[in-house]
This record gives sequence, structure tokens and C-alpha cells, in this order.
Amino acid sequence: MTRARVLVLNSALGPLDYRVPHGMAVEPGSIVVAPLGPRQLLGVAWEAERMPSDAEVGDNRLRPLLGVADVPPLPAPLRRLVEWTADYYLSPPAAVVRMCLGSMQALEGARTVTEYRATGAAPPRLTPQRTQALERIGERQGLIRELAAVADVSDAVIRGLVKAGALEAVAVDIDSPFPEPDPEHAVPVLSAEQAAAAETLVAGVAAHSFAPTLLDGVTGSGKTEVYFEAVAAALRAGRQVLVLLPEIALTEPFLHRFADRFGCEPVAWHSGLRSTQRRRAWRAIVSGQARVVVGARSALFLPYARLGLIVVDEAHETSFKQEDGVHYHARDVAVMRGLFEECPVVLASATPAIETRQQVALGRYAEVKLPGRYGAAQMPAIAAVDLIRTPPERGRWIAPVLVEKLRDRLEKREQSLLFLNRRGYAPLTLCRHCGHRFQCPNCTAWMVEHRLTRRLACHHCGHIEPVPRACPECKEEDALVACGPGVERIADEVAALFPEARVAVVTSDTIWSPARAAEFVGRMEAGDIDIVVGTQLVTKGYHFPNLTLVGVVDADLGLEGGDLRAAERTFQQIRQVSGRAGRGEKPGEVFIQTHSPTAQVMQALVTGDADAFYDAETEARREAGAPPFGRYAALVVSSEEQACAHEVATAVARAAPQVEGMAVYGPAPAPLAMLRGRYRYRLLVHARRALDVQDVIRGWLAGVQVPAKARVTVDVDPYSFL
Ligand code: ADP
Ligand code: ZN
Repeated sequence: MTRARVLVLNSALGPLDYRVPHGMAVEPGSIVVAPLGPRQLLGVAWEAERMPSDAEVGDNRLRPLLGVADVPPLPAPLRRLVEWTADYYLSPPAAVVRMCLGSMQALEGARTVTEYRATGAAPPRLTPQRTQALERIGERQGLIRELAAVADVSDAVIRGLVKAGALEAVAVDIDSPFPEPDPEHAVPVLSAEQAAAAETLVAGVAAHSFAPTLLDGVTGSGKTEVYFEAVAAALRAGRQVLVLLPEIALTEPFLHRFADRFGCEPVAWHSGLRSTQRRRAWRAIVSGQARVVVGARSALFLPYARLGLIVVDEAHETSFKQEDGVHYHARDVAVMRGLFEECPVVLASATPAIETRQQVALGRYAEVKLPGRYGAAQMPAIAAVDLIRTPPERGRWIAPVLVEKLRDRLEKREQSLLFLNRRGYAPLTLCRHCGHRFQCPNCTAWMVEHRLTRRLACHHCGHIEPVPRACPECKEEDALVACGPGVERIADEVAALFPEARVAVVTSDTIWSPARAAEFVGRMEAGDIDIVVGTQLVTKGYHFPNLTLVGVVDADLGLEGGDLRAAERTFQQIRQVSGRAGRGEKPGEVFIQTHSPTAQVMQALVTGDADAFYDAETEARREAGAPPFGRYAALVVSSEEQACAHEVATAVARAAPQVEGMAVYGPAPAPLAMLRGRYRYRLLVHARRALDVQDVIRGWLAGVQVPAKARVTVDVDPYSFL
């Protein structure tokens, strides 16, 4: 190439053309350094015919590229995925391609970096900042910048500690190869049912072709065990494997389980990696040396050299939907990646999404079923607790039946889990004297009290305040009351009921890293915890054989607000958490506290008749033309100035084209009318399945002048309606 079209990593710019200097080898996918004004930008060379540019420049006026990274070019299937994602989710290609790079350090040539760690020697002069730094750094090792961030001090303080001999330099070989998993390490003996399922998946891997498959098995049926056989087949074939998990908290138990089967851990990819780990992983992925990668959704866009299998575990989880930047759904993009890479994609779930079931019904996805639990384990018995007829005592949240069951488990030395999908102590705090409610200054949301940290926190923007003694409105002292329960309050109630019980609260506030999750698992397995009180973080992935009781504190919670997937989500979440009970030899029991025990979703949970529930939900969706039978796209207009947001939203609505098979609703103030200090208005586009709604929206928005003060974001196939 003497001329290159480059996607520079700046979403505000379209593709730009450059001259390739003599002697520089640039091909599509090459990662290059390009000049832009006085700056240098990273970019990726692209096939010019696939990425039209409206700024065609003559050869003689082109500026030369400054360099090309010494790493393999992004492979063609990944380039096709970038184009598809940008197109489908109406996002700038530059924003998508940025997700492929993942580690800027990986593009540099050097093979060692200098990290620092404590020597144990105290510096001659000990300032409070130095003390804080050494305390927080502890056993950690990292770059100056990373240690400074951990210690919450400036880089200069860290450098001072190096000079003073309290920290020492360590040369780290960042690109040492990862150990290779061995498919023959510990081959399990599968049940007949499992073996049949595994055989189908293995055949898919051997075929080297696109084959999306739903692995639909009840909790504890051995889905992981079964798809591990497909992983083994891909390893034997010399291919790479990507396993996507919905939460990084699940990574740690997965790593152990994988190591038990394959003799070493897979390569992990998540936001908690240090930059050197990130670099090492990225380089091993692009070279093909990293054989199995397990990660959160960001692992989906990495440049695998020869992908042979993609697994999306807990594929129904809505956390696969990214809600900022490029609004993509990792499950759906994973299937597209399988198409471009020509490899099978396994979606594993005990409660598949209606969208996925519909693909099976249409014959586009294959289906493999595991209807029973593995071994002696039985599905738990599930009962509803009517909160109107048998309510908890005044001021309490756990009904007498459930209290008795907890007592029974404590006596039997078995473990229990109480599930409530609400972090903190109470979702609302108000003043008993004047009625003042604590609201976030940046969002349309109540401040949530967290007693563990003695703060009020906004769960939308992260704003925090200390809990005041006096009401800020009427100045009355000690008049604040907590309204409603969060997990911390339930834990308090349990402690009051059973002072001798050992209680653990499990939420993203207490389990924020894979290491914390590992610690929790260790304590559960050692029997150091009697009762777990947790949010959705404990509903999946874990396998605790001695856990025999699950109580759902408020099964109605997910039905509030009532968006299109409320009932489905409630069903999935409660089925999933029920699945934690009785996974070993002892049978499990589940109690679901609800105000409407006769509601269809509660009945389906109690009887276990998933098909009846799904069929009714699917019919309701079909009638409403809702996904998967029709499609939605949400347009959110936001601005720091309310008038501006309103004006632009109205202009967008006015510009809406009249298209057969498409309706536009709104604008209306969003339920979260203010978020992070920005006023928000929503429009909802509802379209026939067959309509190219992206194309319509692209043309529509191109005709609307959006001032710099406002922003229009498009969410195709939205999951959040807030
Ligand atoms: P799921 O992912 O469907 O919930 P898992 O794969 O976690 O189920 O299996 C549940 C438990 O049963 C795990 O502890 C797993 O190790 C065990 N198990 C499942 N199948 C087998 C098998 N064939 N041999 C030995 N243990 C198995
Ligand atoms: Zn807020």
C-alpha cells in the first residue's frame, strides 16, 4: 500500500487518508501512528472500499504515517465484526475499534517494564503521606502510576519512597508465555445425557463452521462440564477459545474449576487487570499463544488469531448489555463474531432469554438440553410465602415461616441464602419531623443509606455524602428514618434473630474484585458462614453443596416499574437463585416472599413449569409486536440545560420520518429525568422486525442539528428503559 485509509481513534472523526512512507509495511488491520494537526493518534488501517471517506485528498497532499506497531494486523473476521457492530448499534467505527486494542502498552516494543514493590525497610523520613502509601501498597507490585493510584498519593511520593529505599525496582518480563491447558488432564465421566450433549457440541467444533447452539440445562445439570468437552475439542484442534462470563466476580471460581479440568488456569481478561497483565494477555491473544480466554464482555473484541469456539455462559444475563459508549449486547455480538470467524457459539443458560428461545424455534440456533440435575441432586422444592396472609412482624422483613426454616438450618449446620436485589441498608431515608427525603443532587434518585460505610450513596452517579445528625431541611436532630430494606438491613434482622449465626453480606460493595470473591467462596466452603444475605451477585455460578435453603425476601421487587422484560427477568433471577439450593446430596428448599402468590410468574416458579410461563410471555410479546417479534430503539437526548434538552428532543421528534411499519413515541422526560447532572428526554422507536431501522435512524438524525450542549444517544434493542 502506498496510500492507507485509517480509522483514527477519535470518534468525532471519520476515516482519514495517509501516505505510507517508503519501506513501511502497512496492510488492512495494521495498527499505525498517524499525524493529526500537531498531534499523533493511533489508528487502524482499513480496506478503503469498506470504509467510505467524505474527505478524499489527492496523493500529493497526503501526510505520511509516522509508524506501524510491531504486532500482527487485526484479522479480517474482526474487521468485519467492527463494521457490523458500528453499523448495527449506530456507533462510530472508531469507538468500536478502540475496544479491539484493549492495551495501549501492548503496542510498544519493549519486553520488560520496571515495577516497584516494598522492601520492608522504613524510609528515614516518614510523612503521613508516605505512611499511607506504604500501608496501602502492602504486598502489591506495580508501575509508579499504579502504586500512586492504589495509595491515593502523587507519583512524586512514590518516587520519593524509591529514592529513600522503601520501594525497590523489579524488572518484569511481561511477555512470558502462558501455560497451555491440557485437554487430557482430568477427563470427567459424563452421564449418558451429558455425553450426548457434549457430543453435539464437540461435533460443532470439529466442523469449523458457524453454528450457534443453545445449551439449555437446569441449574446443576453440568452445563459447564459439558461445554468443557467442546473446549477440549477446540484445544486438540489447535484453536483458541473465548468464554464470556456476565460478572467478573464469577471469574475466580471459574478459573479454579477450569484448572481442575485442564491442569492450569485460562487467561483472564477483565477491568481489574494491571496494565502489564493486560499487555501480556493481549499479545498472547493476538499471537494465538493464549489458548483459552475467560472474560467479561470486553474480551469479545480482542484480536484472537484462530478462534475455534465461543461460549457465553449465563447467556440470558442482562449485564451482557453495555449501557454506555457503544451500546452493544455481548451475547448478540458473540453470535456475529462466530459467523465471521466461522466457529460455533454456545449460549449456556438455565433460563434462556425469550429472544434466544425464539431463534431456536425458528431453527436458526440448535438446541441441546440437560433436563435433570447431575448425580443424586434433585431440584429444590419451591413454595410461595404470602406476605399479606402471613406477614413478618412489624418492622421486620422476614416472614415467620422463613424464620423457622432458618432456625432449622442453623440447628442442622446447613447453610442458607437470603436474596434481595438491593444494596445498602435502606433505599430511602426521610425526616420523621418534616418529611424531607434525601435525593441525589445530580440524579432523579433517592440516596441509599449504607450503614457499613456510614454514608448516603447514589447508585446512579456514585455521589456520596455522610449521614447527617440533623435534617438539612428542618434541622431536627436524630429524626431520620430508614424506609424499606436493603441487604444490610436484612443482615441486621438476621443478627437480631440469631445472634450466634455467622452472617455474610455479599454485594458489589463487599465483593468488588475476583480476590474478594475467592475469599468468600473459601469461607463458604470451609463452613465459616451460616447465612448469606446477597444481591444478584450470589444468584449464579456458585456451587455450595451444603447450602440447602434459599429465601427470596421480596420477589415483587423486579416487577416494579414494569418494563417489557420485568416478568421474564423476575422468573430468571428467582429460578437462578433457587438453583443455589440443594446442589449436593441434601435436598434444597426455596421460599419466595410475595404479595401476589397467584401471579403467573410466581405460579410458574412454584410449579417449575417454565414452558408454560415462556409460552405465555412469548405470546404476549408477539401480540404487542415487542422483541423478538418487533424491534425497539431508544433515543435519549440529554443536556445540562433542561430547556436545551427539551428543545432538541422536540426537534428530533419533529424530524421523525413517516415510515411504514415504524412508530415513534415521545419525547417524554425519562424516568431518570436527570442523570449525572444532565436532563434527559426519551423517544422510543417501535418497528417491524423486517425494517432496517438503523438505516432509517441514520438518515433521520443526519437531518437534525444538535448543538454542542446536547447529546443524542441511540440504544438499539434497549434493555434499560430508564
Ligand atoms: P450448571 O453449570 O449446569 O449449573 P455445573 O456444571 O456447575 O452445572 O455442575 C454442577 C455440579 O455437578 C458441579 O459441582 C460439577 O462439578 C458436578 N458435575 C456435573 N457433571 C459431572 C460429572 N459428569 N462428573 C462429576 N461431577 C459433575
Ligand atoms: Zn446521582
